[in-house]
Amino acid sequence: MRLNVGIDGPVGAGKSTVADAVAARLGILHLDTGAMYRALGLTAIRRNMDLQDEPAIVALCNSLNFTVSHEADGQHTFVEGEDVTGLIRTPEVSMAASTVSRYADVRKAMVRLQQKLASETDMLLDGRDICTTVLPNATAKIYLTASAEERARRRFLEMQSKGSTDTFEEVLEAVIKRDEQDMNRPVEPLRQAEDAVLVDSTHLTFDEVVEEILRIVEEKRHG
Ligand code: C5P
Repeated sequence: MRLNVGIDGPVGAGKSTVADAVAARLGILHLDTGAMYRALGLTAIRRNMDLQDEPAIVALCNSLNFTVSHEADGQHTFVEGEDVTGLIRTPEVSMAASTVSRYADVRKAMVRLQQKLASETDMLLDGRDICTTVLPNATAKIYLTASAEERARRRFLEMQSKGSTDTFEEVLEAVIKRDEQDMNRPVEPLRQAEDAVLVDSTHLTFDEVVEEILRIVEEKRHG
């Protein structure tokens, strides 16, 4: 049987790095679905589009070819064959991704693509709607979270190490704003699926989170 694991959660819960480690331990691929919404947000910014113009953003989404590849250094995300991996991690693209992901027809296209990829091979997906929408029958479902302050602290340290001069307060404000937008959008808002297991990483180390998720996956798998 296909092994599909879903991890959802808010901004900065550590989903991406934790998902990478868990997938590596399970020997399966990790699909970072946020990167796909980021690739669309980036393209809209580059084309000077109004992100609030839903029909135009949907038309853009439907006209583009999004692909991913898995390399030794992790997932690479492509738009029309261009590798945009190095361009999609800025705060501006984060907020643009959150804005374009509110549109139902954008979500429909992305969900379809993610479901196709997950059907082809054993895979762990991380995002906002994996356990509720993309993989309703996933082998294991996790909702990974932490307090807003802790998530902002981690993001702040990560951004500082990359040379950012944003203050902790600015990072916290951006985290809260994006969470609000993701949790309150009309289509597939971020929420914990009823059958997802909650993992609160506020007081856990990275290794403890990885071990806890592996334990949950094994329990669900072998019951
Ligand atoms: O996970 P990441 O921070 O890269 O996601 C960027 C944005 O894309 C999120 O803030 C969210 O609005 C959107 N997203 C989504 N559904 C997913 C993954 C990401 O709506 N499955």
